[in-house]
Amino acid sequence: MRLAKFAASIACASAAIVVDAGLTAATAATPASTMQLLDAAAIAARCDTELANVRAAKKAIESKKGAGIFADWNRLSMQFADFANPVYLLQNVSPEKATRDAAQACLEKLLPFETEMSQSEPLYRRVRATVPSDAIDKVFKQDLIEKFEDGGATLPPDKRKRAQEIADEVERLGLQFSKNVNEDPTTVVLTLAEASGMPEAWIAARKRDANGNLLLGLDYPTVVPFLQNATSEVARRKVWLAKNREGGEQNLVLLDRALKLRYELSQLHGVPDFATYAIKRRMAQTPAAVNDFLGKVQAAVDEVEARELAELREDKAKVTGTDPASPMLYRWDVPFHQERVRRARFQIDQEALRAYFPTDKSVEFAMKLAERLYGIAFVERKVPTWHEDVRYYDVIERLPSGKNGAFIGGAYLDLYPREGKYNHAAAFSVRAGSTLTKRTPISALVTNFNRKGLDHDELETLLHEFGHVLHGVLSKTRYVDQSGTSVKRDFVEAPSQMFEEWARREEPFKLFAEICPECPRLTSAQIKQLDASRKYGQGTRFARQREYAAYDMKLHTGVPPAAMSTWAELEGKTRLGHIEGSLFPANFGHLMGGYAAGYYGYMWSQVLALDMLSAFDGKLMSLDVGRRYRQAILAQGGQRPPHELVEAFLGRKPTSDAFYAEITGRRN
Ligand SMILES: [Zn+2]
Repeated sequence: MRLAKFAASIACASAAIVVDAGLTAATAATPASTMQLLDAAAIAARCDTELANVRAAKKAIESKKGAGIFADWNRLSMQFADFANPVYLLQNVSPEKATRDAAQACLEKLLPFETEMSQSEPLYRRVRATVPSDAIDKVFKQDLIEKFEDGGATLPPDKRKRAQEIADEVERLGLQFSKNVNEDPTTVVLTLAEASGMPEAWIAARKRDANGNLLLGLDYPTVVPFLQNATSEVARRKVWLAKNREGGEQNLVLLDRALKLRYELSQLHGVPDFATYAIKRRMAQTPAAVNDFLGKVQAAVDEVEARELAELREDKAKVTGTDPASPMLYRWDVPFHQERVRRARFQIDQEALRAYFPTDKSVEFAMKLAERLYGIAFVERKVPTWHEDVRYYDVIERLPSGKNGAFIGGAYLDLYPREGKYNHAAAFSVRAGSTLTKRTPISALVTNFNRKGLDHDELETLLHEFGHVLHGVLSKTRYVDQSGTSVKRDFVEAPSQMFEEWARREEPFKLFAEICPECPRLTSAQIKQLDASRKYGQGTRFARQREYAAYDMKLHTGVPPAAMSTWAELEGKTRLGHIEGSLFPANFGHLMGGYAAGYYGYMWSQVLALDMLSAFDGKLMSLDVGRRYRQAILAQGGQRPPHELVEAFLGRKPTSDAFYAEITGRRN
């Protein structure tokens, strides 16, 4: 997923599941390229049997002796994920509430199995006794040993049992948390007058009540344009507050409980806190390294943010006819005034961009970019899916002759909002690949786009998530547990963040003109303006991202403080302050879905993303570099440490220069 979107200025965030939150790999040695579709009855009927089957398979490999444990583990991991991953996806995307509920109930049963694997002493012994035959097996062995250590295989029995209980409860809390956000029934009622400033198409697309009032849900295509364009401050405040309360007070209780449990887990392992426990397995290695990084980010963006907010305040004074020194700037003002300043200064109107980027054509653009850069082809196939809007594509090799070659994997696209659906943007791994078993990967792109067209931020979101999909689908790892996006959490965003750049440059946009000759076309000057407009607001955006990351670190350092009051205090010290009644932590899904003590990873990954970009030397459509990148980074998944992958791709040690230039708006 992208960054946590809301609470901040709109420019910021998109939270989400990202990639493999919780569950690991995926499926069986079936040649099928598509996933099995299960309804509520099928999930309920099969759940216990599937679980019994994997438990039996685990028992069988525990009693085996000698070599072969890596292949055994791989098979078992696939068997488990073949059932669990589709269920996990359906819990987030099924249009049927009964299916989502059945999926959640089933996941609660299935999730303990992962901990059971990582707590198995016999499996641990087999792994330890295995001598790796090459560098890939060496990394895999190390990964497994860490999994056993973190899961509790090395703890005394009473502590091990408690570690399992904690892991299970934290997973259950996470499922409930995201369900509360996805299914939040809040509707904001607005009069037509309160929607002043909104384009007619937006107004026409809204539901109405009997009195003709507009009924607003909390999905992005509804909320984001409203905050950018609605002239009524009172109405913006109403909508902003509703969005920031998504998930509700109930989620604060779940979050506090998860924090306590994670702390307890760290104590079982004899480390000071959860941040230490989690970060030691990542690129950053220690909380001190993360805090140091966040300090540097703050120092870099502080003045930029102050300058940007002063400009927005000035704009508000102009609009409201007050003294420039006096108007208070609130969080619901930021997107609105940023948008006004962007329009005036760069002649960029986000709403008007939708005509340039029709949603269908934008998706085709993302696929064509990947086809050219990586020598592949997307071929649509009609297959059964969970909703009529969902599309499926086979991904195949495109030979130099122009003919189609071997089948690589599959991709589902679920693009538009609907009731009860996962409400951010994310890529789900439905099935992870393994060369050992000739198993091909499947990924699913899940977004909530406007049906007609995308604004520029959404076009970037599309390419970002598509970057995750490609990381999954183009993976050629030996083992499923190292496939695609199964990399270190503070590296996972790098390929997706890098791919956003293809929505910012003239060369790739030429391809858009090929795909849609009838679409209005951006001139070179407009593309430059678009990028300048994007950079406007970087200070505010990265200051906010740093706050999120610092908050996440604070919650996971030492004995956990209460989540809500800690947020109110931390946010209260920022330039825009804390808004009484807002509940950002209740919908900060990253904290519950795999980014605990890991939100910093977005910015950490971006250092590497922007550095890797330098290999293209400004020529984003370079086939040579594209193919080299596919082999060196995307195909490798997690089978080599990220710093080695990046260094091998760049031919030098990574640097953070491009990142600091980007966050201060200096990068060209
Ligand atoms: Zn992402």
